[in-house]
Amino acid sequence: MDRRSFLKTSALGGTAAAAGTLAAPAYAQGKRTLTMVTSWPRGFAVLDDAATYLENMVNSMSDGTLTIEKKAPGELVGAFEVFDAVSSGQADMYHSADYYFIGQHPGYAYYTAVPFGATAQELTNWYHHGGGHDLHSKLGEIFNLKSFLAGNSGSQSGGWFRKEINSAADFNGLKFRMPGLGGKVLGKLGASVQNIPGGELYQALSSGALDGLEWVGPFADERAGFQEVAKVYYTAGFHEPGSGLAAGVNLDVYNDLSPAHQAILSNAAMATTHIQLAETLANNGAALKRLQAQGVKTMQFSDDVWDAFGAASKEVMDENMSDPLFAEIRESFELSLAQSSDWLLKSDGFYVEQRNRVLANG
Ligand code: CA
Repeated sequence: MDRRSFLKTSALGGTAAAAGTLAAPAYAQGKRTLTMVTSWPRGFAVLDDAATYLENMVNSMSDGTLTIEKKAPGELVGAFEVFDAVSSGQADMYHSADYYFIGQHPGYAYYTAVPFGATAQELTNWYHHGGGHDLHSKLGEIFNLKSFLAGNSGSQSGGWFRKEINSAADFNGLKFRMPGLGGKVLGKLGASVQNIPGGELYQALSSGALDGLEWVGPFADERAGFQEVAKVYYTAGFHEPGSGLAAGVNLDVYNDLSPAHQAILSNAAMATTHIQLAETLANNGAALKRLQAQGVKTMQFSDDVWDAFGAASKEVMDENMSDPLFAEIRESFELSLAQSSDWLLKSDGFYVEQRNRVLANG
């Protein structure tokens, strides 16, 4: 969206109009520093790793002419306040998971993960070659943001529990942390679903405020220390099969950047997804073995439980269809997913089966 059409939108939209009062950011001697608020405590594996990759890449790719100054939760705003802070111009950009902002618009769920949605590869296929990025920008026009995927956690674990889940009924009354539309699915199964920032989860699980939680996967979860409190770990989940992380830039700030700096931001975001996803997937297996060595029991949900997740997920997705932009994003996403998953099964899926069979036979 160019600046003129943004201004036109500002005149029409309340949120964007309010944000349009932001003082124009200035380059000082050709240099610009962007304040980036994040939802991640410093040192949090996977999440803060991605934010740090982005920060370092932008700084080095621009030869120091565009620098990012990262702020952890509490240093400027709280973990879940980053979206509104950037939309209003209080901060220049954020790094977070966009499904935290389904209260602002449910379409943001697609830019992290939706139940029974995309793997990491399928998400980037849609984002870069199936219309996903353009729809991210269309959402951003409502909130005065320019957004990019910037990180991916890969397939997330089903979560940490104190007791085994033997049927979907075991979710009834369970105090469980799960953000996004996945959390609404567990709500349909009777769970008392809470969304708590990552930095507060260990305390909530330890104190009994939560019976269980999902966070990310073995590499991140081990660093957070949940194995000290809960011992039952479901390794696959329906809710986040390949969660994207996102950078959202205030649209006024973005439009005032030079074309080269805009290109550095978007390319650093893509490179962040690649390098951080690889880091996570390279470390999850070894982390899982260390968790098991500490007495963690790893499990999978039964088919009956997966079926219950599926039925509740369909209800949740359909409930949001009255919003036309949500419906447009869903249609675009599902078309891309159908196409790429068909090929995935015929190529990688079949290959992995055959590789396991042939190598097992010696
Ligand atoms: Ca998660």
